[in-house]
Amino acid sequence: MKKRILLSLAHMGGKEQDFIQEAFDTNWVVPLGPNVNGFEEDLEKYIGEGKQVVALSAGTAAIHLGLVLLGVQSSDEVICQSFTFAASANPIKYQGATPVFVDSERDTWNMDPVLLEKAILDRKEKTGKYPKAIIPVHLYGMPAKMDEIMAIANKYDIPVLEDAAEALGSNYKGRKCGTFGHFGVLSFNGNKIITTSGGGALICNSEKEAKETMFYATQARENAPHYQHEKIGYNYRLSNICAGIGRGQMMVLDEHMHRRQAIHKLYTELLKEAKGITVMKKPSDDFDSNFWLTCILVDPKKAGQTREEIADRLAQDNIETRPLWKPMHLQPVFKDTPMYVNGVSEALFNNGLCLPSGSLLTNEDIQRVVQVILEK
Ligand SMILES: *Cc1c(COP(=O)(O)O)cnc(C)c1O
Repeated sequence: MKKRILLSLAHMGGKEQDFIQEAFDTNWVVPLGPNVNGFEEDLEKYIGEGKQVVALSAGTAAIHLGLVLLGVQSSDEVICQSFTFAASANPIKYQGATPVFVDSERDTWNMDPVLLEKAILDRKEKTGKYPKAIIPVHLYGMPAKMDEIMAIANKYDIPVLEDAAEALGSNYKGRKCGTFGHFGVLSFNGNKIITTSGGGALICNSEKEAKETMFYATQARENAPHYQHEKIGYNYRLSNICAGIGRGQMMVLDEHMHRRQAIHKLYTELLKEAKGITVMKKPSDDFDSNFWLTCILVDPKKAGQTREEIADRLAQDNIETRPLWKPMHLQPVFKDTPMYVNGVSEALFNNGLCLPSGSLLTNEDIQRVVQVILEK
């Protein structure tokens, strides 16, 4: 059996265990602690814009708390990019609210601003009120068209909760993804560009909101000697051990991101001549993707093979791939949900494939993947 090539593997830098050891030595084996504070400071320094970052147990928890802080309730609708991972949309349901799915545009594969405005106006007409929040996503690390999306959100005064779970390190017009919306979300799950084994963060605009986030993330305990509760809380804080991994990972984030970008460049070069196969690319230099995953689209007529045939051959060669994410508006669990679609994400789902992109992969690994794609 040939060496297994995986889609995206955790890649430790080496210093992670030092931070964990320090936590053990000082008996900070709890949620909260110096590593949590240190990790939050590292993230704040990295993303800039004067943002405050709160480290949480998962990106999903960050989306949930963002919605809680925006006051989303069961009578509300929340617009969400349809072409995403389910974790973008599930927290809307945790709040008992209704997701409204908006399809993608072709350039970035992210939320279509034209369709977004249509959806906002149509929801107002149908329900008598505007959606409570908008969740755009930077899928696969590619920045969404944030200028257009923010202009529309501001026009109707709807706050944006920006899902940058896959886009840590990506820039749009020189500014870090996750810093455009009222709130931004990061994930440090095992397969993301950096990992804390599991974890996430909410990027906040003010110290007040960061404090509120921490309050809700630690069971909404009021300031009293006894346990006093006036609000429903959650147990969503990141542990001091996991944050230690995060501090080590921050030391190698840029290096690992540059490797993923180099892998994307190599795929692009090696597949340049392949008929009917296109590697996803940035629409312009305004969209500086971390290229968390490199994705291809297969035109079966021109390529003389389908996405499935390519994926099957790669699997036989012990190479992991995954179809592009299935849009939320096509998921059985969301079948009765309002949706504004244009066919773009469905076509991407039908013909797209994510290729192995982890920063541990060698150029020889990438060449092996491409060889199997080309050898039909
Ligand atoms: C991974 C991911 C999340 C959720 O993050 P977790 O840390 O796994 O909870 C949310 N949105 C997108 C787009 C993701 O890829």
